[in-house]
Amino acid sequence: MMQRYKISKEQAKLYVDSTLSDDTPWLKEILIKDKKNPCLYEKEYENLEDFKKRFIDSRFNNLFKEAFKEWHIEYDNERKKDNKIVDCQLCGQKNIEYLSKITNDKNGKSLIIGSRCISKFPYIVDSYGRTLTQIRKERDSTTNRKLKNEEILEKRIPNILNNIDKFNKLMVNNKYILRSDIERIYRELNSDINNKYNNYLKLKNISENKIEKIVNINNRVLKFFKIYEDYIKFCENDIFGLNIKMCEWISLNGDYNLYYKLASDGKITQNTISQIKEPNFIFKIISKFDELLASNNLLLQKSSIGNKFKISIDNNKILFDVDSFSFIEEYKDYLFNGNINIKINKNELIRNATISDNNSIRKSLDLIANSIYNFGYKYEFSDISLNEVSFYKKKEKEFYVVKLKEFINQFKIYILENNVKNNIEEILKYIQEKSEVYSYIDYKDHLRNYDIKIGNI
Ligand SMILES: [Zn+2]
Repeated sequence: MMQRYKISKEQAKLYVDSTLSDDTPWLKEILIKDKKNPCLYEKEYENLEDFKKRFIDSRFNNLFKEAFKEWHIEYDNERKKDNKIVDCQLCGQKNIEYLSKITNDKNGKSLIIGSRCISKFPYIVDSYGRTLTQIRKERDSTTNRKLKNEEILEKRIPNILNNIDKFNKLMVNNKYILRSDIERIYRELNSDINNKYNNYLKLKNISENKIEKIVNINNRVLKFFKIYEDYIKFCENDIFGLNIKMCEWISLNGDYNLYYKLASDGKITQNTISQIKEPNFIFKIISKFDELLASNNLLLQKSSIGNKFKISIDNNKILFDVDSFSFIEEYKDYLFNGNINIKINKNELIRNATISDNNSIRKSLDLIANSIYNFGYKYEFSDISLNEVSFYKKKEKEFYVVKLKEFINQFKIYILENNVKNNIEEILKYIQEKSEVYSYIDYKDHLRNYDIKIGNI
């Protein structure tokens, strides 16, 4: 059965949230017995003592009007900006779309309420003393003026509305790093649109002088579109352009200094190239060196370009890993100045490169093992993941064990130049000095730890 209210939910809530309600604690107590939904039902009223009934009948309305004066309108009827669900804090209506806010000046309490609820209390005014009716009337006339002015402007300056709209949306959707001069033009225009154009639209009449100013803004907007579009084209098509992928990479990985330098140049330059490690870019840049490498008898393995890239040198089948970033830094002149006479310093390149892929390690090891066999070192065992190679020395009946990758890379120049045979002494000395030496039994034990068995020697 529906219960009739003596004091409605809206009234009761507004009243108990006002400081004035503290003057009649008994009434406040009755109203907030259900804290979430303060109100007074007719039935409850009937059961009250006579003096309380009399008070409510004769005094409450006046008291309530006094309580009103504690409140002012902060804003009225604004469309919700996010997807949060908001319920009216006076009547409890679910998920209201247009929000009004009133605040109590005495205790600072604020209530978000629906447009129907706020119009139930037409005596609340805003901080300028305007009633709800006045606020709404003024808003309507501003909207009307704006519409009228837009119509006038569109006739005088064709497409102006579209242009301004496009301009406003452009930067919301922009994911590119703008070159700083373009950014500056954007900011100036944006400020003129906000401070001039938007304000002129609210005027009763826009003077000729102001229309001139809007013509000027429109021309600059059109010019800006051209500059922006050309820049984006450059970003996407030029190898040094800050394309979308690059911009994403920079926002995730770049520091402020890099960002600042890139923005002021509007592209990747000699100053910034070494700091860019975006994979697509590295691939494209290293590929650019293809011809230069080839003219120096270095063959680039395109499939392997990343932070390192592999090359074979002088048709040798062994692949060397070169650090992409130090290579770019060293030879960037070729990219930026088109200097095709650059000679690649092979010794330097090899010194900084490593042999790391399994095939190349095996081939290199073969070369060395074959050469030292005649000097009493018999290659016995190697394992790349264990990073270990052992040579058996018959005379001493001992195993000489060294770290495989370090061993190979120590002699990479001789391997490359097919010059192992002429440098045997140095290789043997390395084995003598760097080896761990095992007896047959100990070496067997050592390998058993890795579940590896070796046969009899
Ligand atoms: Zn409501």
